[in-house]
Amino acid sequence: MDYQALAKLLFPDVTETPEELEARFPQRNLPEGAVVTRMAPSPTGFVHLGNLVQGLTSERMAHQSGGVLFLRVEDTDAKREVPGAVEVLINTLKHYGIQFDEGATMEGDNGIYGPYRQRQRASIYHVYAKKLVSEGKAYPCFCTEEELAAMREQQEANKENTGYYGKYAMWRDRSMEDIQAQLDAGNPWVLRFRSTGSIENQFKFDDLVKGKLTITENDIDHVLLKSDGIPTYHFAHAVDDHLMRTTHVVRGDEWLPTLPFHIQLFQALGFKLPKYVHIGPLMKMDGNSKRKLSKRKDPELALTYYKAEGFPVSAVYEYIMTLLNSNYEDWRRANPDTPAVDFKFSPKKLNPAGSLFDYAKLVDVSKNVISRMSAEDVYAQLAQWAREFDPDFGDKLTSDPEYAKKILAIGRGGKKPRKDLAVWKDAKPYMGFFYDDYLGRPQFDEKFDKALVIDVLNRFLGVFDIADDANTWFDKVKAITNDIGFTTDMKAYKADPAAFPGTVADVSTMIRLAVTGQHNSPDLYTVMQILGKERTVARIQKAIASL
Ligand code: GLU
Repeated sequence: MDYQALAKLLFPDVTETPEELEARFPQRNLPEGAVVTRMAPSPTGFVHLGNLVQGLTSERMAHQSGGVLFLRVEDTDAKREVPGAVEVLINTLKHYGIQFDEGATMEGDNGIYGPYRQRQRASIYHVYAKKLVSEGKAYPCFCTEEELAAMREQQEANKENTGYYGKYAMWRDRSMEDIQAQLDAGNPWVLRFRSTGSIENQFKFDDLVKGKLTITENDIDHVLLKSDGIPTYHFAHAVDDHLMRTTHVVRGDEWLPTLPFHIQLFQALGFKLPKYVHIGPLMKMDGNSKRKLSKRKDPELALTYYKAEGFPVSAVYEYIMTLLNSNYEDWRRANPDTPAVDFKFSPKKLNPAGSLFDYAKLVDVSKNVISRMSAEDVYAQLAQWAREFDPDFGDKLTSDPEYAKKILAIGRGGKKPRKDLAVWKDAKPYMGFFYDDYLGRPQFDEKFDKALVIDVLNRFLGVFDIADDANTWFDKVKAITNDIGFTTDMKAYKADPAAFPGTVADVSTMIRLAVTGQHNSPDLYTVMQILGKERTVARIQKAIASL
């Protein structure tokens, strides 16, 4: 067979050579050890936690080493593409703070290794397709769907491996005449790889997460170009990661089964193989067993979920770091205020079997992260979230930023900051009572007579002075307690509750209910200071009137 002639026949329009492409996309000029890596998601419209895990791993490896991270859009599967998905992808990754040095952006492509959207690279793939054909390493296949289905049926009946290989590879060694006849008839064809591998052979391979693997050679003549001339993932991966000078491929381990083929393909193309970092799936506990997080069953797989709940980006980031590197938590405890990027990330510490995602832990991490933020920062993030997800609350917050910040400053700073908020969604139940529209109707404990409650509230109104300091204020509450025959001695009360009609805690709760409409609130003295004299008095009067 004259492979040169076949290559010309199949790719009459390809004039560019691999050498020209090598020159157009030169080696990167980076320091020794710099990692060049990428995110290469498909625009399906669904961006998930797995993308973020992969993204952060790539980002850390690239930027920690002084290397490059780029974004490549893998849009070869037109059937799966959803309109607007590329924008969703770019915006979501941006929201989570993944900084790309080059690649696809909202404003088009940025960088000299583009285009960074695969469908725009068809002519580049064809240069290498032609080269493979000219060397006898790839060939056209005109099999119909029916023929492939019949082949599969036969293989299943014979209990053989399924796929296009060996004696089943019908078009592997067909004559030029046969090929020409099909082309003349205008029949569609795909380009297949001519595998020289055998499943009898195994070899060793080192993956940065999975460790040493024993790999069986690939014997299947996989498709390189589909009938529309668009490459499969495998072929595009080899060509793109070579020409974009990727040093490390970080991707999900669902690609491990086709890794033997990828290795073969890099060899056949004469490309240096990159290092591979195959990340295990995210798991969760379901009853007593572990299973993969699923798009269908687990809303928490989608990144939009975290945004809508109002997890700060830094909390999600922090949690994912604990998930990826088990020593991150200890490091964070020892360095509470150091930027996360100072942590020395290692892909080798990833769990090869996949990480266990624990929602309760994420909530806990988020509470800690928010408790360490400044009131200013909390206000900015909360207001932004509320504007999108709870506009009425958003309006209230932004109509008086200083007031909102005063509220959000309660219990901040110091060694033991309050941890009331895990997500921005928690903010309204926590602080809504500061806004008159959200003030609930107080439900006083029925064990106390209404008259007694009214008496306590009136007594408080009689002595309340907004200028009091916290101690004076509390002394007044204690005095009321004693005057109505309740006790301020909590120890004595605990020892013999029946001996007292009530305590200072009951008195405080009555006042708290009147002022906040709820049983729990931040420090009541501070609450009154923020509400101010008129509103505090008005609320207590309203509570009295409601009784
Ligand atoms: N487009 C592939 C995916 O979304 C990319 C895998 C890779 O990073 O190579 O799974």
